Amino acid sequence: MATQHVQRMSRLMARTLREDPADAETLSHRLLVRAGYVRRSSAGVWTWLPLGKRVLENVSRIVREEMDAIGGQEVLLPALLPREPYETSGRWSEYGDLLFRLKDRKGADYLLGPTHEEIFTLLVKDQCTSYKDLPVILYQIQTKYRDEARPRSGVLRGREFQMKDSYSFDVSDEGLAESYALHRAAYRRIFTRLGLDHRIVSAVSGAMGGSASEEFLAPAAAGEDTFADCPGCGYAANTEAVTFPLAGEGAAAAGEHPPLEEIPTPGTPTIETLAAHLGVPASATLKNLLVKVDGEITAVGVPGDREVDLGKLAEHLAPAEVELVTAEDFADRPDLVRGYVGPQGLGKVRYLADPRVAPGTAWVTGANKPDTHARNVVCGRDFQVDRYLDVAVVEPGDPCPQCGAGLRLDRAIEVGHIFQLGRKYADAFGLDVLGREGKPVRVTMGSYGIGVSRAVAALAEQTADERGLSWPAEVAPADVHVVAAGKAVQLALAEQAAEALAAAGRRVLLDDRAGLSPGVKLTDAELIGVPWILVAGRRAGESVVELQHRASGTREELPLPEALARLT
Ligand code: ATP
Ligand code: MG
Ligand code: MG
Ligand code: MG
Repeated sequence: MATQHVQRMSRLMARTLREDPADAETLSHRLLVRAGYVRRSSAGVWTWLPLGKRVLENVSRIVREEMDAIGGQEVLLPALLPREPYETSGRWSEYGDLLFRLKDRKGADYLLGPTHEEIFTLLVKDQCTSYKDLPVILYQIQTKYRDEARPRSGVLRGREFQMKDSYSFDVSDEGLAESYALHRAAYRRIFTRLGLDHRIVSAVSGAMGGSASEEFLAPAAAGEDTFADCPGCGYAANTEAVTFPLAGEGAAAAGEHPPLEEIPTPGTPTIETLAAHLGVPASATLKNLLVKVDGEITAVGVPGDREVDLGKLAEHLAPAEVELVTAEDFADRPDLVRGYVGPQGLGKVRYLADPRVAPGTAWVTGANKPDTHARNVVCGRDFQVDRYLDVAVVEPGDPCPQCGAGLRLDRAIEVGHIFQLGRKYADAFGLDVLGREGKPVRVTMGSYGIGVSRAVAALAEQTADERGLSWPAEVAPADVHVVAAGKAVQLALAEQAAEALAAAGRRVLLDDRAGLSPGVKLTDAELIGVPWILVAGRRAGESVVELQHRASGTREELPLPEALARLT
């Protein structure tokens, strides 16, 4: 192994703090700031200091190695993007406030990329013309921008953050399935190498669109996601994606509810006008959004598989009065729906019904019948849905949709998300290649993300203890933290140890700071969380050091040569 430089703490840009930052809610946020890994620049925007940058680079390196191993080609696209492609896909408006938008000096609209499906689609359209050019997997590790409503928890949820995003392009559905499987396997290897405890769960596709998607969740108390997990059959899903059989259909049909009433609401948009307004293709999958019109719960067809800005919808539903449906609205209507409005709330409604709504279902609600809204719409009587998606209402012990055993619920951090997009973006941009038979073939796509900066915080969440951070070896900012716990004799021995370790290829952090007590240095070493701590202290005169293993807390006094032999 190549000789390494010794990083001296006396020169290191990292000031450890005794106190938790005032606004820090999660363990990783507190510790990464206190140990001098990151500094807050503005809300959700972070500076990575040398120790943090090293961990970030280690995570990136592992991601890169595994992406290269499945044939991924690394590229770097701009973060500053023109409006037009996002207008074409519909996401310029669909993303709403999440998008950072800006204008250039000529007044042209730009955005800072939140994810790059559009731009990769255009790149491949420009570069690939024949089926022979495919399949292709492209990836980048890049800064992403999302104006998150609640940028808290430090780098777990940034407004500027690092993401590895990759995109696969295939000519057939089988090809896409293969590219997806390659990513799934690569992600398992990545998270295993990172030392991150993780689960793969079914997910909903959200703003990406498309059909199948799975998330990689790292169980942790600080996580903002909840996943249901079946001890019986191994079923695991984000609670956003748990689907239950519809309950109470019979009761609804038996006529215990007021009759359906159609209200003329001139100017109510149809799916087409809504689609145009929201800037999405009218051919997008229809889902149903429940809202209150004149105090009654009703449903409105909404194009696409994504969050919808209710404010915008309301404008177009005038003159009827539209309100957000909340979970309370369902308290006495168990027949109607199993839940609603996620913790996201705040003017956004998502996932009211499953995309697998029976085809040909006669929707009698506002957006499906021009100039009309329906009152007293009752599920099971007035429309049929085979399943509902639930956001907030899955409870521990609810029956597993696969085997009926009681579900467990746990908190987790979403560290990765893989999507089979299908032809959504290829359709929007007309991405075809010449097929084997000489005719154009529409390309099918997948997109795959890993939160690289978030993974750093997720690892911190899972591995830290009350004394500080404790990194797995492959991502740690150093292999050994050598502490000179004393004056001249200790410093001389520590220097000797550090040089020997560095010569043997170990990455060394040397606490050579003058004027600090051994206690302060040891507390800092535990806070910083390098896997091994080698202390030149009490018995330095006889060349005996103490070797501490940070994660297990074991310590042992050893002659220096023996300690070095253990570490090299
Ligand atoms: P979340 O549900 O946490 O908002 P997301 O589902 O919006 O995440 P994706 O669009 O699936 O995120 O992006 C791919 C990956 O990027 C996520 O799995 C996550 O690891 C990471 N990521 C997303 N948003 C952020 C953020 N604000 N800060 C840090 N990492 C993020
Ligand atoms: Mg998000
Ligand atoms: Mg998510
Ligand atoms: Mg996601």
